[in-house]
Amino acid sequence: MFNTVLVNGPGGDPCVYLEMKYRRRALLFDLGDLHVLPPRNILKVEHICVSHTHMDHFIGFDHLVRICLGRDRHIALYGPPGFLEQVESRLHAYTWNLVEQYVNDFVLIATEVDPKGRMKTRRFPCRRAFRAEGEDEVRPFDGSLFEDRYFSLQGAFLDHKIPCLAFRVEEKRRINIRKDALHELGLPTGPWLNGLKDCLVNDCPPDFPVRIWWKNEAGLSMERWAPLGTLVERIVKITPGQKIAYVTDAVYSEDNAGIIVNLARDADILFIEGSFLDVEADQAARKYHLTARQAGALAGKAGVKRMIPFHFSPKYRGWEDQLIEEAETAFSGHSDQREAL
Ligand SMILES: [Zn+2]
Repeated sequence: MFNTVLVNGPGGDPCVYLEMKYRRRALLFDLGDLHVLPPRNILKVEHICVSHTHMDHFIGFDHLVRICLGRDRHIALYGPPGFLEQVESRLHAYTWNLVEQYVNDFVLIATEVDPKGRMKTRRFPCRRAFRAEGEDEVRPFDGSLFEDRYFSLQGAFLDHKIPCLAFRVEEKRRINIRKDALHELGLPTGPWLNGLKDCLVNDCPPDFPVRIWWKNEAGLSMERWAPLGTLVERIVKITPGQKIAYVTDAVYSEDNAGIIVNLARDADILFIEGSFLDVEADQAARKYHLTARQAGALAGKAGVKRMIPFHFSPKYRGWEDQLIEEAETAFSGHSDQREAL
């Protein structure tokens, strides 16, 4: 389950904080100003998806490094072409003569994604004064950036006069244990349930024997066995995971529209830029941005459950409601049309 926060609101620097509930793990979409995000939240960040490195999307980098210095943190960053050199330059703009004494291991692992279908990863350990460690790791890029047993992360390139990445994070199916059913069957709670979940994650067959174990009142280890299929039927509830998409800084074009709709399809939440009102569509196009109406229409076409427009041009300060309303009207118009079909 993800909790999301648009860190600086719809008119401030782009940055979305996404926390995996109960797991103390978080992810950031873009690195705008981070000062309003409490350090305890920054210290949960494991992945950072940077759409592009225009200043308002990357200025939070130094603050993040500063908060994490001396901590035992490994943070993976993903960005567009030129990203490795930019991360390296930012790190090398400071003097790091005392960091080799640090006990903890803070490492930035940056990945540069190339629209031609390649990813290049470089490690920058703090205790080496952020000098790159080892050879760059090069892999093919087919849209997938990262995957573990809890979620996957995808990226797609949009045209912002430069290649700009849009992202989608997808939670794996959720495995919930029905405590009432456990109780009714006289089964204990405890670590054996993690073993049961592992069996499901690893797609074990229904007749796979699951060990149910606990300690009795005398402290003696007890166990019994049951087939996976029977346990799943009686005590497990599986729900689909959440999908969250993040789209910013893209001109309205047929190509971009297709990529956005594809990436955001059926998302639970879509964060999408709507920088200008539609009466200023020409200006939006000149600056390679979407209007609020275009954002709403794309969200509707993608069939997302909820749309959050953001990255409003500063000229609309105090008038943000107009952009939100325009995006909402276009969004619900599209949703109504879809329902009528
Ligand atoms: Zn921007």
